Amino acid sequence: MTHFRQIFDPRTVAFTYLLGEDGGAAVAVDPGTDRTRLSVLAMLAELNLRLDYVLQTHWHDDGANDAAALRERTSARVVASEAARAGADIPVRHGDTINFGSEVIHVIATPGHTPGSVSYLWRDRVFTGDTLLIGGCGGTDRMGEDPAALYDSITHRLFALPGETLVFPGHDRRGRTVSTIAEERERNPAIAGRSRDEFITRRTAS
Ligand code: FE
Repeated sequence: MTHFRQIFDPRTVAFTYLLGEDGGAAVAVDPGTDRTRLSVLAMLAELNLRLDYVLQTHWHDDGANDAAALRERTSARVVASEAARAGADIPVRHGDTINFGSEVIHVIATPGHTPGSVSYLWRDRVFTGDTLLIGGCGGTDRMGEDPAALYDSITHRLFALPGETLVFPGHDRRGRTVSTIAEERERNPAIAGRSRDEFITRRTAS
């Protein structure tokens, strides 16, 4: 049996995810705030899980190094893109895998929102951080953001996944919790039916 939890922090409208193998190893994705870290610790205790890895889809330079706080409370090691800023115990690149228990997580490099943004594919679910949101995609108004790379990451890498793959984003402001690759491919207003040039023009116009 495996465990899967989606944790929402209303203050930051951010999602954290906890994946675990019954009575064994667990992984947390983007445990960004004190509040979500406390939730993760409570769930680990409740489900009798051991946190092996904290997976970061990305960091912003203006954010605290939140992953380190969980590392101090558990034996977890922090996984992030080798292109992300320093702070990872295990730097990863496209095509790498992370194993926990008998489970495998695949690293998909999805730069654009930040140079070091990655998505993580586990079974039939993909954790997209801020790269692909439900009905939207990550902002490109901060330093380091690259609309051309974002378009390519979404269309070439995420939209290449099977349509039934469940999309679990890093944020949602409207209370939505999950989507699918097929739904986003066909209906995401930020990208569906838009050419690369059109996408880039729209994202860079201010
Ligand atoms: Fe972000």
